[in-house]
Amino acid sequence: MTQVQPPALPAPSGWSGVADFETRDPATRQAVGHYSFARSDDVAQVLETARQGFAAWSALTVNTRCNLLAEWLDRIEAETDPLAEEMTLEQGKLLAESKAEIGKSLRESRQMLGFARAHGGQTLPGRAPGWTNTILRRPRGVVLAITPWNFPVLTPLRKLVPALATGNAVVLKPSEYTPAAAMRLVRAADGILPHGTLCLVNGAGEVAAGLVDADVDAISFTGSVATGRKIGAVAGHNLVPVSLELGGKNAAIVDKVADLDAALDAITGAAFQCAGQRCTAISRIIAQADVYDAVRDGLIRRMEALTAGPGRDAATTLGPITTQAQFDQIIRLVRAAELEGAQVLTGGQRLAPDSAPKGLFFQPTLLATDDPANPAVQEEIFGPVLTLSRYTTDDAALTLANATAYGLTSAIFTDRLAFAQRAMAELQTGMIHVNHGTAPDDNMPFVGIKTSGLGTGSVGPSTLDFYTTEHAAYLAG
Ligand code: NAD
Repeated sequence: MTQVQPPALPAPSGWSGVADFETRDPATRQAVGHYSFARSDDVAQVLETARQGFAAWSALTVNTRCNLLAEWLDRIEAETDPLAEEMTLEQGKLLAESKAEIGKSLRESRQMLGFARAHGGQTLPGRAPGWTNTILRRPRGVVLAITPWNFPVLTPLRKLVPALATGNAVVLKPSEYTPAAAMRLVRAADGILPHGTLCLVNGAGEVAAGLVDADVDAISFTGSVATGRKIGAVAGHNLVPVSLELGGKNAAIVDKVADLDAALDAITGAAFQCAGQRCTAISRIIAQADVYDAVRDGLIRRMEALTAGPGRDAATTLGPITTQAQFDQIIRLVRAAELEGAQVLTGGQRLAPDSAPKGLFFQPTLLATDDPANPAVQEEIFGPVLTLSRYTTDDAALTLANATAYGLTSAIFTDRLAFAQRAMAELQTGMIHVNHGTAPDDNMPFVGIKTSGLGTGSVGPSTLDFYTTEHAAYLAG
């Protein structure tokens, strides 16, 4: 991919032909895509087209909508290979991870269509004989979806499918760093979804901020806490419903377990897939004192066995960091952690693998610190970096796990049922995993609490409530 042409959008988006932004392969730093950003007139036109698309789309039955969406998903599946290559080229993740992401997105999306077909109101007894009380749900209108660069297919589909299935039109603003996948998703809807149902606007923060303050009926955002706060402030002022899916600082508690190797394998997978650039990446290990040394040694062994390189190479097990800004952030936080007393047990430096010497690679890094205030423990690093802390009592483990502002996901590895049950009741995260990594299922809410999320999350059936309004209708006999 050398030049991304303006896509055949279902809505005009005013491509001026002037490239505003180049995407780069993070493994080689070579430019791979050239994109034009929408101007304000284009944005107004897209919103108007989506408004018209909504009128036609919402008039269809839910079954018709879901059948069309199923057709669209089949077409996406047929394009798995080129889509995965584009994802790996712009985002950097391993080709196998790109394909797995597409597969998971399709499974979740098909599950969501099942939920949507059964989603609806409820009928309750009325106040007099023959009267009926009905709780109705209707689509909201035009939904704005804004997505980050780490999951270029999964995150958009988690918003588009439930929003469209319930009858909304959607305007998608993908990350400026990984727009190729989103553009392919939208193109794949050509000839299946009616004109104006699914629109795409390319741009960075300025374009996105303009959309947030425009005439939209709901906003679904996934990205950083800082951007989420800005969007939340505008949505609050405009009284527009908003779903914010934000960052994480996810802990894994490792108790004395019979199968420590299985626990460490699960942790390594959950920490280093996508080079740690996952909101659900495990980034803090809290190890029971008696197994601390074995956890440390086992992690170091696994981390030093990872092979850094381009995502397209079959031998690679650790891909690059997607953007220069993200790379700089990782180095800044690792250095800050060291200054505050963390000890680097392995890694800590930039990597220049032979297969990609100019790429943005960072060594898998293990930082030992028992200080809960250390920056590496408190701040989302979003890279291949783990902290390791020690605990002696169950109370201390749970206190340490809960001692951040984030509340996305957590894991606990224990053979003791009572500790597992206590953790499920007390861990302050939207998702809690006992004895496996932090990979979520296709039918369960994907949701954060504290600064990790506001409003309904995605994936589970409750998502459909976010994309619909509730009405109480009284039918007198
Ligand atoms: P980001 O907040 O920088 O950007 C996300 C999106 O917001 C991009 O499309 C960007 O163009 C847009 N944006 C930027 N400024 C904006 C503004 N003022 N108004 C509206 N939109 C604006 O995040 P990122 O760096 O792309 O992604 C990494 C972050 O995403 C991490 O914090 C990660 O934890 C989080 N994330 C969370 C989840 C989740 O489900 N909780 C999933 C994936 C990523």
